[in-house]
Amino acid sequence: MSRTVYVNGSYVPEEEAMVSVFDRGFLFADGIYEVTAVLDGKICEWDGHVGRLERSLKEIGMEMPMSADELLAVHREMVKRNNMEEGAIYLQVTRGAYDRDFLMPKQVKQTVVLFTQAKKLTGPKKGLRVISMPDIRWGRRDIKTVQLLAASMVKSEAYKQGKDDAWMVEDGFVTEGSSNNTYIVTKEGKIVTRNLSNSILPGITRKSVLRIADEMKMEIEERPFTIEEAQNAAEAFMTAATSFVTPVIEVDGVALGDGTPGPVSKRLGEVYIEESVKASI
Ligand code: PMP
Repeated sequence: MSRTVYVNGSYVPEEEAMVSVFDRGFLFADGIYEVTAVLDGKICEWDGHVGRLERSLKEIGMEMPMSADELLAVHREMVKRNNMEEGAIYLQVTRGAYDRDFLMPKQVKQTVVLFTQAKKLTGPKKGLRVISMPDIRWGRRDIKTVQLLAASMVKSEAYKQGKDDAWMVEDGFVTEGSSNNTYIVTKEGKIVTRNLSNSILPGITRKSVLRIADEMKMEIEERPFTIEEAQNAAEAFMTAATSFVTPVIEVDGVALGDGTPGPVSKRLGEVYIEESVKASI
């Protein structure tokens, strides 16, 4: 059955959804996106995602396409029209269509698109095997732009090598996974994750997971770490909006701990989903 997609104020069957070939998202990757998880038919982490959307837009000189409340109403309508219980909602906002020019046009009607991907997000997780790859992305990874080619390339390379994802490395330190924040748990039980800066996306899941870990009295160190440190860690995991907490069991061919998902990742994953469902709207 065809999905219902939102395009610039209209809900249309996906086959009829259209944007201009002159859209600056298509020509210049001049746009921002957000991905929000849906559990039990409700939106997770709404405040975090809409807050980051506003910030990302502002950083590239764009305004919110509509108020946060109106955007929430569109998200909810999408859940309803697509009969979605569990899955992801993508929101794409570009600067709009304009005759091709590097100079950013000032008064253009933004393009606003939402689409859903119904899929099972919860349930048992297998541990992932990751490889390291150079981080060749731009210098403002704190902005959630639609320029995802480098991330798509490293993920595809990982699959080509029979692995699940790539951890990107810059100046000897891990930045992020292809579409997730990365963590190690040291043999002493300390959680280490890269500190926020322009080098990584401030994950909404990251923020909540660190809060939960803190409430569970776990020790947290926010600093860059190396691949070698990861290989010597007791366990590792990554976080993202639609995959929550995912254990990592191998880094560049080296098994972590006993090579199975570790207890810290498992526990944080369980509590995160519990809390996320409770706080969903
Ligand atoms: N880093 C990158 C590069 C990402 O693409 C994502 C997922 N959007 C994340 C981190 C995790 O962010 P969030 O928890 O908000 O999904």
